[in-house]
Amino acid sequence: MGAVIAGIAADPAPPAPGAAAATSTSTRTSGTQDPLRALDPAYYVSVLTGQVVGRSRKISCPFHDDRTPSFHVYEDPGDGWFCFGCRRHGHTADDLAAALWHLDTRGPAFLELRARLYELLLPGQQPPAAARRSRVDTHRRPSRRAD
Ligand SMILES: [Zn+2]
Repeated sequence: MGAVIAGIAADPAPPAPGAAAATSTSTRTSGTQDPLRALDPAYYVSVLTGQVVGRSRKISCPFHDDRTPSFHVYEDPGDGWFCFGCRRHGHTADDLAAALWHLDTRGPAFLELRARLYELLLPGQQPPAAARRSRVDTHRRPSRRAD
């Protein structure tokens, strides 16, 4: 092993766990390095659904009775997955797991979701302490009509 250089520590001390939750005004996520988001969709889809993603990159949709596989798993982590049957789709393991496990992608449920995903997909790794919710687009309310 080489010499240990411990003199240069330019980075500021990380905030204590829990302290980061106080301020959540600006949520810019452009530079976020999220290992979950870099995973091969075929990998997390296989783990989460228990189905092998073959060369066709199609599996039976876990959300409905799907005899002719219509759930397409893209190669690019940025593309995620899409079901041509029910048109359910998502870009990440978060999205798929949230739908499968009926967990919200906000608040405490989201933290639980992330913790479970890390356990399953990235064993030995911990979710970033300052993990903030990013790009939440599942907050859809059924539009109510006036009676
Ligand atoms: Zn489907």
